[in-house]
This record gives sequence, C-alpha cells and structure tokens, in this order.
Amino acid sequence: MFTDITENGHKLPLIDHFYTLQGEGYHTGKAAYFLRIGGCDIGCHWCDSKISWNFDFHALVSIHEIVDIVKKLPAKAVVVTGGEPLNYNLNPLCEALKTIDCQTFIETSGAPKLSGKWDWICLSPKKNAPPTQEIIEVADELKIIVHDITDLLWATKYSKLVNNKCLLYLQPEWSQHKIMTPKIVEFIKQNVEWKISIQAHKFMKIP
Ligand code: SF4
Repeated sequence: MFTDITENGHKLPLIDHFYTLQGEGYHTGKAAYFLRIGGCDIGCHWCDSKISWNFDFHALVSIHEIVDIVKKLPAKAVVVTGGEPLNYNLNPLCEALKTIDCQTFIETSGAPKLSGKWDWICLSPKKNAPPTQEIIEVADELKIIVHDITDLLWATKYSKLVNNKCLLYLQPEWSQHKIMTPKIVEFIKQNVEWKISIQAHKFMKIP
C-alpha cells in the first residue's frame, strides 16, 4: 500500500513527530521520539485520531531527515505509531535508525504485513481487522483498548493466542476511561496476568 509514493519506505507521511515521554504500556515514563505515520483504513469507531486516516493529508518526510533529528536527541529511542504504521515498508526506517544505535519500538494493530526490525512490538489488535499470525507470535506486549465491557472477553481470547512471554495490558479507551477504569481494576484483581495502562501522557497533558 502506498509504496510508490513513499519510495518503498524511504519517505513516510508524518501526521506529527515530537520528543516526549511514552505514556502507555510497558515503557511508560521513558523518553522517546514519536513518529505518527498517517494512513489507516481500519476504522475503529472510537478512534481519537481520525485525522490520521487519510494518507493525503500528511507531508512525506524522508527517513534521513528523521535520523538527523533523532541523532541530536538525548534519548536514542523511537516509537513508531499511527495511523497504522505497517501500511508502509518500515525496513528502511529501522535500518537507518540502527545506524545511530537507536532503539525501535512500534505500536500497531498488526493487520498489515510486518516489516522493520523492532526492539519492542506493541500489538493492539482491532476487531475490524485481525492481526497476522506472524505478529501474534512475536509481539512483546499485547495492549487491548477497552471501550466497553465486552472488550474484556475479547482481551481474554487474545491473551491465549500470544506467546507466553508477551506482557498483557488493558487500556481504557480515553472517552470511556472514567467508566471503564474501575471495571478494568476489578477485572485485573481477578485476572492477575494483566496490568493496566492509563495513557499517562494525557493526565500529564503532554503529547
Ligand atoms: S487502528 Fe488506530 S488509527 Fe486506525 S482507526 Fe483504529 S485507533 Fe484509529
């Protein structure tokens, strides 16, 4: 998808890019450069980033420009997110980041084919488009967004599919977090293999 325009992953359509602290999942609190790559056709009804869906809205940035920014930062860690970043060939980006000893993290629905070399894969499957078997087997972290109570059953199904080292997180969907957070807390007290992820960046009011 889109590979002709991106020169097979040598340019990427960025919604936004910024240096901040990770607010979700296992790496919460760590400094990293975020690349939010535009383009997503999964269509989650609760998506808080619908502006990301249309590829055409986002300027193409070369991976060399990205590397030049990252190499000046104190933290050599990049989180690639979206949109759905695996709509693109991410091999060139990861190879370029590895030339400056940068850690590479991805957040993905896992629906498109996996590309890139990753130090950490956060798989956040979506009901509209199931993840590939390949990414289910290699994910380091499973992060289920909980919009309503039925998502907890769905989470249980995925927890049995991932590898046994994969960390398990339940994250309240932001518009529902006041309702769903107490339900997740009670669920985890009974299902202790899970942890909660609370989008700490939103409470800190940082990007
Ligand atoms: S996969 Fe992410 S960007 Fe795409 S629709 Fe769902 S929440 Fe939005």
